[in-house]
Amino acid sequence: MQPQSSTKNKIIFADYLSEDCGKTSIPRKKEVARGPMGDLVSKEQRRKNMKAIRSQSKLENRVSRALWKRGVRFRKNDKSLFGKPDISIKKYKVVIFIDSCFWHACERHGNMPKTNQEYWSEKLERNKNRDIEVNEYYKNNHWHIKRVWEHEIKENLEKVVNNLVDFIEYAKKGDF
Ligand SMILES: [Zn+2]
Repeated sequence: MQPQSSTKNKIIFADYLSEDCGKTSIPRKKEVARGPMGDLVSKEQRRKNMKAIRSQSKLENRVSRALWKRGVRFRKNDKSLFGKPDISIKKYKVVIFIDSCFWHACERHGNMPKTNQEYWSEKLERNKNRDIEVNEYYKNNHWHIKRVWEHEIKENLEKVVNNLVDFIEYAKKGDF
């Protein structure tokens, strides 16, 4: 009875080892790294995130350059303001947020990454709730807040800029 049981244990041990080496230890360490929030994010997803961040700043630059040309003076990413608005004019209590279709889960273009779906759905949900919180904060404090979608800028930058100029002009005339 003794030898049989010992063989059985060896097999189990061998199975455990091969599974551990093949599936968990080495390959995962290469592919997985921690994101800015300390979350586990795949290398591929990190690449996509970096790309999204770069395209977000390109988007912001297109809008801010166009506004600047129209004579509007403002601050970009003012850390002293709640939610760090992309564009702000404190004097007129104006804040403008430029929302990426992915990060802000646009109903038309927001898509869920294929891997780590649980992580992403939680993260995008948090972003959405954060947007609601920011909107409420500014409304409650009588600021003029406007959100512009990435797709609006891509579709018609001139229209977006015209609307923003009108919005800012309106805010200038405001009583508060
Ligand atoms: Zn969109």
